[in-house]
Amino acid sequence: MTAETAYRDVDRNHRVVTPPTKYSLRPVEERASDFAEALAYTAGYTAETAVIEAARCLQCPEPQACLLNCPAGNDIPEALWLTSQRDFVGAAKVFAATSPLPEVCGRACPNLCQQGCVLGNTFGAISIGKLEAFVSDIAREAGELAIKVPEQKTGKKVAIVGSGPAGITVAEDLITKGHAVTMYEAWPEAGGVLVYGIPSFKINKEVVAYKIKDLEDAGVKIITNTRIGEKITIDDLLEENDAVFLGTGAGIAATMDIPGEDLKGIYPSTDFLVRANVPEEKLPPEKRGKPQIGKLVAIIGGGDTAVDCARSSIRMGAEAATIVYRRTEAEMPGNAVERGVSVDEGVKINYLQAPVEYIGDEDGRVKAMKVIKMELGEPDASGRRRPIPIEGSEFIQKVDAVALAVGYWPDPFLGKKTENLSTHKWGLIYADEASGATTREGVFAAGDNVHGPDLIITAIATAHAAADSMHKYITGEEHINPIAPPPPRKRR
Ligand SMILES: Cc1cc2nc3c(=O)[nH]c(=O)nc-3n(C[C@H](O)[C@H](O)[C@H](O)COP(=O)(O)OP(=O)(O)OC[C@H]3O[C@@H](n4cnc5c(N)ncnc54)[C@H](O)[C@@H]3O)c2cc1C
Repeated sequence: MTAETAYRDVDRNHRVVTPPTKYSLRPVEERASDFAEALAYTAGYTAETAVIEAARCLQCPEPQACLLNCPAGNDIPEALWLTSQRDFVGAAKVFAATSPLPEVCGRACPNLCQQGCVLGNTFGAISIGKLEAFVSDIAREAGELAIKVPEQKTGKKVAIVGSGPAGITVAEDLITKGHAVTMYEAWPEAGGVLVYGIPSFKINKEVVAYKIKDLEDAGVKIITNTRIGEKITIDDLLEENDAVFLGTGAGIAATMDIPGEDLKGIYPSTDFLVRANVPEEKLPPEKRGKPQIGKLVAIIGGGDTAVDCARSSIRMGAEAATIVYRRTEAEMPGNAVERGVSVDEGVKINYLQAPVEYIGDEDGRVKAMKVIKMELGEPDASGRRRPIPIEGSEFIQKVDAVALAVGYWPDPFLGKKTENLSTHKWGLIYADEASGATTREGVFAAGDNVHGPDLIITAIATAHAAADSMHKYITGEEHINPIAPPPPRKRR
């Protein structure tokens, strides 16, 4: 060690800190031409590199920022210690104690925990997420993560509507308490956005299929192709069950309402992603058929969904996949690391621009869009600086296809169909986030349908709280009252 490197390699307690051993991705030319997982080896690590990376953890005294930053409260220092000791199964069990989807979160979480890692500002934060996925993959393959259910059943029954991270969390939490659980899903397969949204190059679908099978093996009855509110209503479910959980997500892709948005070749993001990524046998007939992308694809928006659409376009052979975002990189939501990976794969990002009109050819297919340049003004309600159009700056951009990734909101259908179930802004279900209680007795809700489109880990964390309330409610341990409806909205 030289005097120059000493400052970098030794912490205040004179412990030697090794530089980061980053997880590996498959070579860019290879991974950008198929839909298989972009990570190399097992979630990006080998046993040797995982041990070296985990051993960098300083085992900080409490309060440990990584743990506090994780909405699910994963005991990260303990898991990293076990990983560094090559006890991969033990480490996986620590992650699994607080999260039902450690393989999934490890792969796709924007790593809130890592943002708390004290090594972040100096030596480089530990790759906690990918290590979580690595140990969990190993433990799963060894059959060590299987859900354990008590022999003694309670005789209580619950119905879960929606099989995304929120529904999966409640299913696992309640089946392990001895209750009978039936889960309903509108799509042909269970998994929510993990299957019908997030592409397989980001989350290997085997890990989702494993979780669903594990739930079924534990006794959860899963009924797919069934949209609650149509033939079966919430009232029907309440008659048959002691409580109902709504984990219905925020699956309706928003549009911008600008001229030409209904032209052929313009796809809402979910439609684009499921057609591009999901095998046809898992799709209803009307959703089958790859998007017709041509050569030039524009993706409107700036979050994880936009990046996923752009990376999918590259994999489908687009010559140019350009994200068009109305603010700058500093205001961009979503995972910055994944964004960097997408740029390496050939994605281009045009900042401070937004389309104002789509232009079609004689067959009604999009051939160009009129784009306006933006500048930033004062912060808006989200705290981000507001984009302001620059008058007279419009220009024409040639496009063969457009994916609209400008946000999501919940399907208002269930709220409209169910008496005394209040919804509020954008159709979100009105619920108490701490308990999951809704305005309807015996009906609980959590995840994106309550707090709006967010993250897998926030859906898990809020669903844990709802499952806890449901358990108390159905066993009579505590009577959880429905909450009062929201105050009526003021007319403008
Ligand atoms: C393209 C995309 C990429 C993303 N990338 C990331 C990422 O990298 N990292 C991250 O942390 N988060 C990411 N997210 C966000 C994350 O996926 C969501 O926050 C999370 O899935 C929310 O979980 P949920 O269970 O609340 O809802 P969902 O996962 O949306 O699941 C809800 C389920 O309910 C079903 N449903 C709805 N209504 C009914 C009904 N009436 N009857 C029966 N079933 C019904 C739906 O079909 C759906 O399967 C991404 C989201 C998208 C769309």
